[in-house]
Amino acid sequence: MCPQTTNAASDWIVDNTHLLDFVLNEAGGFVYAIDTTTYEILYANGSVVRTFGDVVGKKCFQALQRGRDEICPGCPGMPSPSQPEDDELVEWENTNSINQRTYLLNGRHLRWPDGRRVRLQVGIDITRQKALESAVDEERRASLETFEMLTNATIEGLIIYDEDRRCVRVNQVAPQILGYSADEMLGKSAFDFIAPQSRDHVHRVIKNANQAPYEAQMLRRDGSVFWAILRGRDLSLAGRKIRVSAILDISEIKEKEAEISRLAYYDALTELPNRRYLNEQLDHALNAARRSGNFGGLLFIDLDHFKTINDTRGHAVGDKVLIEAARRIRQHTRDADYVSRFGGDEFVVLLENLSSAESEATQKAYQAASNILHALAAPYLIDTYDYRLTGSIGIALFNGASASNEDLLRYADAAMYTAKDAGRNSVRFFDPVLQQQAEAKALLISRLRRAIEEEKLQLYAQPQIGSSGGRKIYGVELLARWPDAEHGMIPPGIFIPAAEESGLILPLGQWVLHQAVRQLKAWENDPERKNWRISINVSVRQFEDGDCVARITELLERYRFRPELLCLELTESVLLQHTKEILHKFSRLREMGFQLSIDDFGTGYSSLAYLKQLPITELKIDRSFVHEMTIDSSNAILVRTMIAIGQQFGLDVVAEGVETEAQYERLQAMGCTQFQGYLFGRPTPVDDLGGI
Ligand code: C2E
Ligand code: CA
Ligand code: CA
Repeated sequence: MCPQTTNAASDWIVDNTHLLDFVLNEAGGFVYAIDTTTYEILYANGSVVRTFGDVVGKKCFQALQRGRDEICPGCPGMPSPSQPEDDELVEWENTNSINQRTYLLNGRHLRWPDGRRVRLQVGIDITRQKALESAVDEERRASLETFEMLTNATIEGLIIYDEDRRCVRVNQVAPQILGYSADEMLGKSAFDFIAPQSRDHVHRVIKNANQAPYEAQMLRRDGSVFWAILRGRDLSLAGRKIRVSAILDISEIKEKEAEISRLAYYDALTELPNRRYLNEQLDHALNAARRSGNFGGLLFIDLDHFKTINDTRGHAVGDKVLIEAARRIRQHTRDADYVSRFGGDEFVVLLENLSSAESEATQKAYQAASNILHALAAPYLIDTYDYRLTGSIGIALFNGASASNEDLLRYADAAMYTAKDAGRNSVRFFDPVLQQQAEAKALLISRLRRAIEEEKLQLYAQPQIGSSGGRKIYGVELLARWPDAEHGMIPPGIFIPAAEESGLILPLGQWVLHQAVRQLKAWENDPERKNWRISINVSVRQFEDGDCVARITELLERYRFRPELLCLELTESVLLQHTKEILHKFSRLREMGFQLSIDDFGTGYSSLAYLKQLPITELKIDRSFVHEMTIDSSNAILVRTMIAIGQQFGLDVVAEGVETEAQYERLQAMGCTQFQGYLFGRPTPVDDLGGI
């Protein structure tokens, strides 16, 4: 009800007391007074009376509510009777049990006009505000819950880092991904979760405030590593800089990717690369061959009569045969060779970097194919059955000038059919000339192997003479000879390269070395020859593959000969390709007292700087220079220069291939003092010199 402002009411309003009563009774809030000694209600305004009935004269705790803890009793700050009055304001909230409304109450202690101590209380209904407040609270709680639910429902691990990149908050997913508990993660550095191999990369990426998602390897608590997609965002929260980082574990996706590429590039049965992979690899190989100029080979292998096994024994057995054949091919090729299953019972082997020389490449490819044929022909023991199977192999060689992928495969395939026509279990080159060469070389090598095993080789010796005090022999060079019953004397120019290619140079070299040492021992008691030196030719392969130094040391200990009487000749051209390791071996031999000579000097274009590095004692001027010296004056200048270089480096200089007195005199005039050649003696069987 509003105060009336009409003229009729104006008289009525004049009375202040009435006005006050009116205001007090009609104001929305409660106003009442309680005797703090007796708890009697001394005054109650209209609002109180309308809500609780006529309460004046009643005890407040009986009149104003049902329970004890409501509006009145226990209301805070009710002074004890002895307490002096004050006008302290006390405020509290309470909910009334009658009308279920909430009031904000405040009370003040004062003295009533008659001297009694009272508490004057004012109560305002705040039910609506309360409802609003709790609605707001509820909403906030709900939205927080929703937010948490959202961050936990995502498949991304979320981490909040502070400005120092220390972890300050995580969702439930991040600890699951990283194998930590949430508490363990707090305080850790962002980089504690990154695998070492990805740290540099991550460092670079996170310089951007809003980086695009990127892949990195992450580290779990147990040290295991997994692939993840990461995304970070720099934000500011309540004035502080933070970084929110999201992690998506993609290890499964990565595995699937690998699996997909395995399926796309590998044959499921044999686990060998498939035709598609081969094509890519062949592209690389062809490009590489173009750059290096080296020959490579493509072997097309087809199993003979495989279909019969499949048809008669069933596919399960056929599959096992294929798996075993694949295993054998893989086992009998070099690691660098590329073995693939082309389809059905066809396999293709790619051999790279066979040699820069076609003949050597031919030989190696032939050898590789022969090894595979041999391996394929061994019995296949499957489910207690013993199966026999052979293969046919076609070879196409390629180098920089070669044709395309498809051409090569076609050539090798065609060659394979020629091998089938030739009765299977054989190897055929696409090029008939190569075929012939390969067969001849293979035959030569197998005969040489037998000759070495049966000690059919012989050693010839050619004297080396010094010019001081007349032509005096100071030593001999031992040269290998191969007398063959069928082909007569096979020259070393033929069989030494074959021995080098096939590795037979190792047993051959070992044999020569042994013979040389025995010869030295035989001459020890010969007054004429006991100071003769023996030179032998040593292939660089003996240093690369064989443990030449150990063998020489062994012989030295066993025979106790004078090491300065053994000279190892190494051709200049092969010395040019020396490695540090070989250089080191030379130095060790030199320290032990052996002589080291550079053979065919002048043909290999060695530089002076290079000469200085080698621990050599002698140069042998190649016989081609000696031969042409008397014909061509520029060759004479070359020979003179070589002699001067040798002297400059303090090396012995031997002129090789001296055939005429004119050459001998000319060389002497140039300052040369050591010679070898037909003029002084042809290579003759060592036995003729006495010994062994
Ligand atoms: P090399 O080491 O340069 O051997 C010298 C070659 O020149 C020998 O040929 C020898 O018979 C020949 N010769 C010597 N004096 C004259 C001459 O006045 N005129 C002409 N035209 N030739 C002369 P051979 O015995 O045919 O040996 C050829 C090559 O085979 C040797 O060249 C050497 O590099 C290699 N060789 C021979 N025996 C062995 C061996 O046991 N081990 C190794 N690794 N290589 C060997
Ligand atoms: Ca020689
Ligand atoms: Ca020589």
